[in-house]
Amino acid sequence: METEFRALAELCEKLEATSKRTLMVSLVAEFLKHLRDDEVEPAISMILGRAFPRWDQRTLEVSWATMSGSIKRLTNVDWKDFTKAFSKTGDIGAATKIMFESSRIQRQATLFEKPVTILEARRSLEAIAETSGYGSRERKECLIETLLGEVTPLEAKYIVKIMIGEMRTGFHEGLMELAVSKAFNVPHDVVQRASMLTGDIGEVAAIAKTRGREGISKLQFQVFRPIKPMLAQTAEDINEALKEHGGLTAFEHKLDGARVQIHKAMNKVRIYSRRLTDVTASFPEIVRLTREEVKASEAILEGEIIAVGKDGTPLPFQHFMRRFRRVHDIEEMVKRIPVELFLFDLIYIDGKSLIVDPYVERRKKLKEIAGNIPLTRQIITSSPREAERFLGEAINKGHEGLVAKKLDSPYTLGVRGKRWFKIKLSLEPLDLVIVAAEYGYGRRHNWLSDYYLAARDSESGEFLVVGKTFKGLTDEEIKDMTRRLEEAAIKEEHRRVVVPPKIVVEVAYNEVQKSPKYKCGMALRFARIMRIREDKSPEEADTIQKVRKIYEKQFEKKAIYR
Ligand code: AMP
Repeated sequence: METEFRALAELCEKLEATSKRTLMVSLVAEFLKHLRDDEVEPAISMILGRAFPRWDQRTLEVSWATMSGSIKRLTNVDWKDFTKAFSKTGDIGAATKIMFESSRIQRQATLFEKPVTILEARRSLEAIAETSGYGSRERKECLIETLLGEVTPLEAKYIVKIMIGEMRTGFHEGLMELAVSKAFNVPHDVVQRASMLTGDIGEVAAIAKTRGREGISKLQFQVFRPIKPMLAQTAEDINEALKEHGGLTAFEHKLDGARVQIHKAMNKVRIYSRRLTDVTASFPEIVRLTREEVKASEAILEGEIIAVGKDGTPLPFQHFMRRFRRVHDIEEMVKRIPVELFLFDLIYIDGKSLIVDPYVERRKKLKEIAGNIPLTRQIITSSPREAERFLGEAINKGHEGLVAKKLDSPYTLGVRGKRWFKIKLSLEPLDLVIVAAEYGYGRRHNWLSDYYLAARDSESGEFLVVGKTFKGLTDEEIKDMTRRLEEAAIKEEHRRVVVPPKIVVEVAYNEVQKSPKYKCGMALRFARIMRIREDKSPEEADTIQKVRKIYEKQFEKKAIYR
């Protein structure tokens, strides 16, 4: 007999109610034990808030407008009540449940329906994902309404959460690995390794259930299944990286483009982004290049794609993004925004995983098979002076900085550790003024935690927004800030309050981008508040003229795209 979706919703409700990790793991393990073989992967994906396994490229493409339209029609409840329920709970799923509960029609209907099973829910999600093209919005709505029309308020809560991809039960993938290990009696490290290699714990669990430890020990990388990339920690400077790596290390130029994982099997090539989505269609020339140059039947390679100007110098990141998101008129964009690939790692080749091999060995093999594709520039040194010079060279060439890589380090999938350090020259922080703020989501839904930051126009005296951030302040500071801003509010619009420009904050950021979002035409990228400058008045804050100067200076090093 198929397991009812209700059981999964009840499990998630229990997970949400506790923060005890051991209890969570036991609850999930117990649940997994009683599933049919074909229910294991769908159930695991859903518990983790995904419609499909991680490597699966299908997406639901359901906007909030579509979803809320369906909820409105199904429940026939005044929409103001939804907004109220959302403000109270800070959670769309929980607000949906409240709506369903107050809708009598809904409750009566479900008394006579056959309960929806986990597999039926998965099939509905598949049907939604597969609906595309003309009229797809109406068809998606119809599918959503059929599914939601058959379920109880509690089930609706979790179906909506799965569709928007936000579970918020606190039960993450790491805990799922423990639960799978417990449920199917396979050592935790074996589960972990298999999950890393295949990129999906759901599939690993299904194999653990049917074929046990032996089955999952045999799992290997599979070409066209993207894997989680190794990540870098930030080092303050070159000396820190050298010291942590035992006095000798490899430095590579850190390019400011997009990280790509390239999978090749014979003539077939696919390119995945850092977030593991398939971006092959955006880069036909990289596909051709890989096919022609890479000397291996099967390979998983990593590198950075950057946009280059007419003289071959790198362009600011934002130009590149135009290319990355592009899905139409690709060949035209190939000509207008040329890109270049620089490889920096080799993870798998012709049936053999290289992840346990030391970095230097992987790089050597990479060089052997890369043909005419350039590798990121690299030096191996113990000299801080030589490394400083290399950093200067990277910056002068328009790159972001350096990555230091420990010579004997394995490739640690998905881990941000000290084996890779990024070293950047950061831009000087700005003192900006808070002019408005928004209430956050989830845990922060009662706090004004998202701040609009403005710089003063020295000519008109007006404060112009240059960015927005929810990063940098501690919970205590946010609470205190909420109180101050609520008291000072001169206007409230939905979840936003507008305040007079009074509070000055010091803001770090990575780049000033051109942006139509704000009146001044610029926006800070990755803004984060370093501290509140109680000692500064708004008149002493930095000016929009200074921000513009910083923006223009970036171009001195990077060619301007025309
Ligand atoms: P971050 O994204 O800030 O953690 O910095 C690491 C990122 O730097 C990687 O995800 C890559 O996209 C990028 N990167 C640029 N050049 C290199 C390089 N030579 N080696 C590794 N990562 C690089």
